[in-house]
Amino acid sequence: MLRLERYIRPYWGYILLTMVIKLLGSVMELLIPYLMEIMLDVKVPQGNLPHIWLYGLMMLLAAAGCLGFNVLANRMSAKSSGKITLALRHDLFRKLQSLSARQMDHLTVPSAESRLTSDTYNVNQLLARLQRLGIRAPILLLGGVAMMMSMDPALSLVLLALLPIIALVVYFVTKTSVPLYTRQQTVLDKVVRTVQENITGIRVIKALSKTEYEKQRFHTVNQELTQVDMRSGIVTGITNPVSTLVLNLGLTLVVVIGAWRVNSGAVRSGVIVAFLQYFTMILNAMLGVTRIFVMWSKGEASAKRVADVLEYPEDLAVEEARARDAEEDAPHIEFRDVSFSYTGVGKNIENLSFSLKRGQTLGILGPTGSGKSTILNLLLRLYDPDSGAVYIDGQDARTIPYEQLRKKFGTVFQNDFLAEGTVGGNIRFFRELEDADLLRAAADAQAEFLADKGGLDAPVQVRGNNLSGGQKQRLLIARALAGNPEILILDDASSALDYETDARLRRALREHYRDTTTVLVAQRISSLRHADLILVLDDGKVIGAGNHGELMETCPAYRELAQIQMGDGKEVG
Ligand code: ATP
Ligand code: MG
Repeated sequence: MLRLERYIRPYWGYILLTMVIKLLGSVMELLIPYLMEIMLDVKVPQGNLPHIWLYGLMMLLAAAGCLGFNVLANRMSAKSSGKITLALRHDLFRKLQSLSARQMDHLTVPSAESRLTSDTYNVNQLLARLQRLGIRAPILLLGGVAMMMSMDPALSLVLLALLPIIALVVYFVTKTSVPLYTRQQTVLDKVVRTVQENITGIRVIKALSKTEYEKQRFHTVNQELTQVDMRSGIVTGITNPVSTLVLNLGLTLVVVIGAWRVNSGAVRSGVIVAFLQYFTMILNAMLGVTRIFVMWSKGEASAKRVADVLEYPEDLAVEEARARDAEEDAPHIEFRDVSFSYTGVGKNIENLSFSLKRGQTLGILGPTGSGKSTILNLLLRLYDPDSGAVYIDGQDARTIPYEQLRKKFGTVFQNDFLAEGTVGGNIRFFRELEDADLLRAAADAQAEFLADKGGLDAPVQVRGNNLSGGQKQRLLIARALAGNPEILILDDASSALDYETDARLRRALREHYRDTTTVLVAQRISSLRHADLILVLDDGKVIGAGNHGELMETCPAYRELAQIQMGDGKEVG
């Protein structure tokens, strides 16, 4: 909680006021049995009717005050904790946006989701309840004990004898439930992750008849969650029966010993009635304290999870430009001896060097998992290289401010996504672009199918489910082209286009985007044979580099592929 102190600080005054009001309410609550004792033991025997009325009225006022103050304080606590949580969630969301891809890999999306939802909720609950119970329970507990002591110290010993039992229970519950709650949250992450994967991949799962396997997988995590839930339920569930037992035991003892003492004239009978009330009050306050401990552990675990993310270091900080960066006529894009690994185990890219002039095209070819998308991730600075550097216009990408860097690119990721909405909205994608830009981009992306669908206003369903694979790709390409990017990145973006459309797309790129440097990843040699430079990758290493002609001479893997795909390697263009 302490790590979130700066969110609470602005509300300290308000929280303090809430607690004072709560305090007043609790004092009123404490007064009621006391007033009743005086009425029963002093006023009733005197037969003083006006005084009896007066005390009755005072009890009524105390009850009303207790109710009023409590309601007011509870509302106030809901307000302050709500506002604190709002700020917390806002900042957490912002922070999640700014995390590097590597940090997100580490955190995982489901965990980010549950931190943003259930963890901030737990913090909210802790803050709200702490303001309510945090003051009321101790006041009732200590005040109740003090009142009892002042009325009859001997009879109070009954309570004192029972206190250690309750203290033990509180200790046990807190000690066991803290680790359980942390674990509960972790397991919950796992359940969310499993469900998410399942829903995202529902088609594939059905197509491959993996439903049974998925059910089993869900069953396993579900079981795990249930077990943790049950264990924490059992632990916290012990408190109630034990305290009820102690309460009833105490009440019985008070009545038995009290009767005996009243008989011998040591105390007045009203004291016994007041004692019964205080005793119940104190026990409930005890339970309240237990609940605070449990809530605290839960909220603390959640606060820690939230703070952990908030305190993530700025992974991809923009660095100071170094002297050597200012180079005249530097290549547009240059990789200089770049090596990179996602996990630190093995290398996903090894000693990669190449350079491209403005307007040139780079083609990347290689089997699946060879590192093609990784090169693009490095170029986009979603990840930083472990060694070596990526230069854009001769400037180390690490020294270019994000806004500037991101604006240079138009990107179609592999398995890119379309948002629910319209075609126009998907191409524009929250940028300030004219309709004319969108239409031009759509035309260049060969998205002529749009005319039949209703142009820019045509609806797009969630994930573009109402479009075919090829239509989706064209829409995504249009999105990348609409901003007139300096650098166009197409990761396997034309795989669902027929040869002819693919060729027309390339022609449009050549004619209308002369100054755009293009990086394209493709499986088909025909898609990139016109590139100025083609890199053939295998397992993170370049096994061939050059243009089509050169590679046909020097790279056996490339030649083989060309022969398989294009017969003699000359047709289709
Ligand atoms: P494909 O043709 O299937 O798209 P690719 O050449 O684009 O393949 P990459 O996505 O670059 O392949 O992946 C290269 C290697 O890096 C693979 O072995 C993959 O398992 C690994 N990899 C990719 N992304 C991550 C990640 N986020 N965390 C860890 N490893 C990753
Ligand atoms: Mg890829």
